[in-house]
Amino acid sequence: MPPQPGPNQTVKVVLVGDSGVGKSTILSSYRGERFNPCYVQTQEREIKNAKVQVGKESVDLQIWDTPGNAHCRTITTAYMQGDVKGVIVVFDVTSYDTYLDVQHWVKTVKQYAGNENVKFVFVGNKNDLSVRRKVLLEAGEELAKQHNGAYIDASAKKKDNIDKIFKTMAESILGVAN
Ligand code: GDP
Ligand code: MG
Repeated sequence: MPPQPGPNQTVKVVLVGDSGVGKSTILSSYRGERFNPCYVQTQEREIKNAKVQVGKESVDLQIWDTPGNAHCRTITTAYMQGDVKGVIVVFDVTSYDTYLDVQHWVKTVKQYAGNENVKFVFVGNKNDLSVRRKVLLEAGEELAKQHNGAYIDASAKKKDNIDKIFKTMAESILGVAN
């Protein structure tokens, strides 16, 4: 067993999912930045820290945000180098295609992550768009069951359940039962 990350350590987490599902917005929402309705495509490499409180301890997640468009999928493999402890896989609840693509992202991650213990948190984002919703909550929960991870239904726009994404990731990496 490799040494497990303890509290007050920086751990690498990668954010993946199709382009436009809201990965960068989730991260900026968590960091308290204002919601931007315009789409700004993530460039090749963006790394931001997200501090998470777990009990009395704080954990620094070093989040690698990825571009996620199809022709950049090979680039994503480069993000998986090094000691990746967790992966947040995001889809858009108004787009069934982005949900189906989650399987692709999981496969890529498992193929290239050096760590078999990598923790998965699945996020169904944009749940504020309830009228346009295509992917049911149960379908998201099914992903979590299938890949032994957690599922969180969220809205980066409304900042709904965003804290929970990072808290769940940190607890899962630290092995804290929840
Ligand atoms: P990324 O390519 O996965 O990083 O996606 P972005 O974070 O750049 O977001 C893509 C678009 O979706 C932007 O126009 C965002 O403003 C919008 N968006 C992101 N999250 C939400 C959300 O929770 N609800 C709604 N309605 N729009 C969102
Ligand atoms: Mg982005």
